[in-house]
Amino acid sequence: MPGDAAAVSRRLLGRIRDVMAKPGMPEERLNVIVRCIAEDMCAAVCSCYVMRAGEVLELFATEGLRASAVHQTRLRVGEGLVGFIAAHPRALALSDAWSHPNFVYRPETGEEPYRSFLGVPIVRGARVAGVLVVQTTETREFAPEEIEALETVAMVLAELLTAGNLIDRREQIPVDGNALVPLRINGLKLSEGLGVGVAYLHRKVPFVKQMVGESPEVEAKRFDEALERMHSALDEMLAAEAIGKSEYRDILEAYRMFAADRGWIERIRAHIQGGLSAEAAVQRAQEENRARMQDVTDPYLRERLCDLEDLTDRLMLHLMGLDPAERRTLPAHAILVARTLGPADLLDYDLAKIHGVVLEEGSPSMHVAIIARALNIPMVARVPEVVGKIGAGDPVIVDGDNGSVFIRPGEDVSAAFVATVRMRREKQKTYAVLRDLPAQTRDGERVSLLMNAGLLADIPILDEVNADGIGLYRTELPFMVRSQTPDVEVQTQLYRSVIDQAGGRPVCFRTLDVGGDKMLPYWQNAGEENPAMGWRSIRITLDHPAIMRQQLRALIRAADGRPLSVMFPMIAEVAEFDAARRILDLELARAQHRGDPLPRELAVGCMVEVPSIVFQLPQLLQRVDFLSVGSNDLAQFLFARDRGNQRIAERYDLLSPPFLSFLDRILDACNAAGKPCSLCGEMAASPLDAMALIGLGFRRVSVNGPAVGPVKAMIRSMNAADTERIVRKLLRSSVHSLRTNLAGFALDHGVQI
Ligand code: PEP
Ligand code: MG
Repeated sequence: MPGDAAAVSRRLLGRIRDVMAKPGMPEERLNVIVRCIAEDMCAAVCSCYVMRAGEVLELFATEGLRASAVHQTRLRVGEGLVGFIAAHPRALALSDAWSHPNFVYRPETGEEPYRSFLGVPIVRGARVAGVLVVQTTETREFAPEEIEALETVAMVLAELLTAGNLIDRREQIPVDGNALVPLRINGLKLSEGLGVGVAYLHRKVPFVKQMVGESPEVEAKRFDEALERMHSALDEMLAAEAIGKSEYRDILEAYRMFAADRGWIERIRAHIQGGLSAEAAVQRAQEENRARMQDVTDPYLRERLCDLEDLTDRLMLHLMGLDPAERRTLPAHAILVARTLGPADLLDYDLAKIHGVVLEEGSPSMHVAIIARALNIPMVARVPEVVGKIGAGDPVIVDGDNGSVFIRPGEDVSAAFVATVRMRREKQKTYAVLRDLPAQTRDGERVSLLMNAGLLADIPILDEVNADGIGLYRTELPFMVRSQTPDVEVQTQLYRSVIDQAGGRPVCFRTLDVGGDKMLPYWQNAGEENPAMGWRSIRITLDHPAIMRQQLRALIRAADGRPLSVMFPMIAEVAEFDAARRILDLELARAQHRGDPLPRELAVGCMVEVPSIVFQLPQLLQRVDFLSVGSNDLAQFLFARDRGNQRIAERYDLLSPPFLSFLDRILDACNAAGKPCSLCGEMAASPLDAMALIGLGFRRVSVNGPAVGPVKAMIRSMNAADTERIVRKLLRSSVHSLRTNLAGFALDHGVQI
């Protein structure tokens, strides 16, 4: 077939538009359209298969196959070439269909003479609605422009099928016919907490009515204008006072850059040249994006594609003359429900009214999840097909602690959650009373209660809960929300503002701990099979000393003569600590040489996360000022238990003889060397676990902001000496877990766990 893709589809779309403009029943029109396609593509056959109930594709119209096969030939999704296309869903072009392993011969169609085959999915609203096929008698290699043209036509057909009620309007029918039944669906927890409210379906872009453009010039102009409006709106958002916080800015800036992505814009322009209306061209680009998303496993790329989805929605609203930033009237207790959500999208809403977020897509490091955590909004993602299962105004409960969503829960379930939320609020009030009291046990042992942080947005909580300082500042979070490594200047400003805002309380900065589940956008991992034990954390920064040097330089500059505390993550052997320390010394020497102020006090430590280092503690302790146990990673390696694997998450208990004995060994060595040892993993945030840690001898723990109150309340109600006795006794036992025993002890002794 001659010509470029644009000319090919424009010609074909022109003919289809003429057919659509004339009156006629949808099935008749479909027959005319398949005839046009066959003629235009010089093919003997063009057939349209439509998805029916039960995931079956039914032959609905054909030019070239036997007419008697219409409504008779049916293929399940996955069956035959047509089913294969629906299952994947992407175009399939074969010069010899018969030799494809999925080919099934259907005698009723009379397809013996046909050899080559080109099929494309008909996609509507992210779901496959059918398959469009052309076949030829000769063995023919289909050109890329032919494939593109057929894909464009398939998109227009999707509208015809929907408008003619030939396929279900999924958004209008109750999914599974049980729309009003209470449901509990599990997903991925992205931000903890409980949210109770009513569903607010995040802006659904109205369906595009006009698929074929009047003229490419007019449509291109409309597109350019809408793009310009979208850019200005994003710029305004960037400038807005309300999002002055640095992480939000970074996220939006990355987003803004993305909106200027030439590839994306050019793809839309090409579709307009192909004869689609501007809206249809944007929708086409969105469908391509979704098709790509199906195959992408890399979490970073998936997130970027999600961002692109959000941008596409925004652009579509601008094209339709609707204002994306227009504050929608949210119910007072809204649970936001969406396929996916961009960071700007969430920030568009009146956040005070958002009590939870439920998404179909998503991963922990996606930008919107980072924001939700910083704002304390419970969020559960990867909830399958949730948008189709929830109606606007449905009561919904988001259990961010367990990754569950309750849709239209029964009254008893609702009442239980409402009571829990209320109780938590009441409890928070009692913690506020403790704010100015010391974290001291009943027998006078003072515990240093520190807070973990990673976003600037966390720092104000430090003062709110009155923690003694920041025991772990995860520097990787600011790296993760940017599209490239922040330079020394950007890092300096960031660390300076953390130190400034901490207002004299100590801050322990951990050097970059990326890799594993914390991939950076700009360093793609090489598909490691076991990333948690792979090239991550200190291994990366020692292999790329320039990154480490820049970070340490920024930290020294940010301290600007004030005290500085730095620790290195994932140290597995003393030699690794020495190598990291040498880099720090180089930077100190550099600062001195330049006449920059050196930190007034410098504390250098490392994390105990890899068991091997415990066998070198005497040597390590001669070199460090402190240690901090990262119980999340330490438990993962000690028990050989992947920390991200839900299936074995409960299998081993940290409150157990092996784990506590290991901690005991670390503490012993630290005490003998006179070096402080803290614990900054999740374990310390549970009051019962923290009680055991203090019983074991820990006098420094670092926990997330919301846990400071409950842990302090526990500390103030416990007796360290009594607890030590029971912990020491239980350490010698052979039970799987000490949890029940310790909880019983706490209850008997009035410890608030
Ligand atoms: C840990 O491993 O316990 C820790 C605090 O580090 P992260 O959770 O950031 O890996
Ligand atoms: Mg760790």
